[in-house]
Amino acid sequence: VAARLNSAGFIRNQGFIGGKWTDAYDGKTIEVTNPATGEVITNVSCMGGRETNDAIASAQDAFVSWSKQTAAERSKCLRKWYDLIMAHKEELGQLMTLEQGKPLKEAIGEVSYGASFIEFYAEEAKRVYGDIIPATLPDRRLFVLKQPVGVVGAITPWNFPLAMITRKVAPALACGCTVVVKPSELTPLTALAAADLSIQAGIPPGAVNVVMGNASDIGEALLASPQVRKITFTGSTAVGKKLMAGAASTVKKVSLELGGNAPCIIFDDADLDVALKGALATKFRNSGQTCVCANRILVQEGIYDKFANAFSNAVSSLKVGDGFGEGVVQGPLINDAAVQKVESLLQDAISKGAKVLIGGKKHSLGMTFFEPTVITDVKSEMLLSREEVFGPVAPLLKFKTEEEAIRMANDTNAGLAAYIFTSSIKRSWRVSEALEYGLVGVNEGLISTEVAPFGGVKQSGLGREGSRYGMDEYLELCKEKHNKA
Ligand code: ADP
Repeated sequence: VAARLNSAGFIRNQGFIGGKWTDAYDGKTIEVTNPATGEVITNVSCMGGRETNDAIASAQDAFVSWSKQTAAERSKCLRKWYDLIMAHKEELGQLMTLEQGKPLKEAIGEVSYGASFIEFYAEEAKRVYGDIIPATLPDRRLFVLKQPVGVVGAITPWNFPLAMITRKVAPALACGCTVVVKPSELTPLTALAAADLSIQAGIPPGAVNVVMGNASDIGEALLASPQVRKITFTGSTAVGKKLMAGAASTVKKVSLELGGNAPCIIFDDADLDVALKGALATKFRNSGQTCVCANRILVQEGIYDKFANAFSNAVSSLKVGDGFGEGVVQGPLINDAAVQKVESLLQDAISKGAKVLIGGKKHSLGMTFFEPTVITDVKSEMLLSREEVFGPVAPLLKFKTEEEAIRMANDTNAGLAAYIFTSSIKRSWRVSEALEYGLVGVNEGLISTEVAPFGGVKQSGLGREGSRYGMDEYLELCKEKHNKA
């Protein structure tokens, strides 16, 4: 697959600065490997502060003209970019499976999902309306004009190599901003291929730049530059806090989409089939490696045993393997560190009395494959309930009352996604409103869409991505004009 993608021009291994494919100044490279096989796919440029400063300068140049284009012109470019990505969704999906490991069908699904943000913001570009405010004096007129913030630094993780980029870059471009993207070093290839298509779509050179390599050097250059007016980040809470602190020195706008600790609450009155399907989807998507994956499955005591059995049966039928394999729904974890984290959280839980129903160890396939796991008798004080497991482990916790479930669910610093399963409409409203989470799925395990705002409360982040609200992150209300009439 790699050879075919390479000869078709989908594998790029240099940074992308000012519309040009660019090596690192010192010629250094880093390997990009396939987590399912350990094979090196290619080596990409390993960049740092200097290259990042070049990218910022290119983005600043491009900003001058891109921000002056009409909304309709920007919209056309974005729409074309969307069309090109969709036209190549098979190749981009294959590239993603190669570098990230997720099953091909899921990867192609992410390409469509990622592209949907570009389509949506191509349309939204035309709707950046301002305001006219009734004046306080008879001879005055007050206008509010929304303008793009300027150059944006976008830092993204490996779990969604395309979608985490498009949901930042598309609204930024739609508003008239230009962008320096730093994808994860583990999955830069999808980002580079998408950047290539952006040029083919007519998005001008310098509007989208991609640098990768030394994350902290690149991050520091982005933070230090007064020209970068906005940092948008998806990733770990620890790095997000660093970036937020670093952004203070130049008072940048900041959006953060950080870790979650999603509760999935299953009440006695839930439709068991719906709950099973929903819990399976939210827990095992991307082998559990998403920030909205259920991290704790809270089950009411009346259906606890029944649910645990049925759920274990369903989980045991999940096929694990190379993402290119027929019928595979669970790919490898991203790297050894991810496996070690899962193992240590499991060990902690088992040592404190939790019981593994199925799975619980590395898969016989080797590499970073891990058995889909269900573990019961998990308690709130175990690390498994407190930290994001980011792997295919479903911890089941028991609760008695609705109040107890809400208390357990909110007992965390995170507040991204939560899920509830119940047949009671009253309860669904009551519990949704009591949950301190940015997103709540009711009788539904898959809740991400480009048309609704996505983001967290508490330490899960700041700002929203997707929907018309996602535009505000890249706009300033910067010309409150006070005209004398
Ligand atoms: P994850 O555990 O999902 O990899 P990270 O927060 O480590 O989460 O990574 C998310 C993104 O942040 C990646 O692109 C990574 O390279 C980048 N990153 C990590 N450390 C820093 C840093 N000090 N400054 C800027 N970016 C960073």
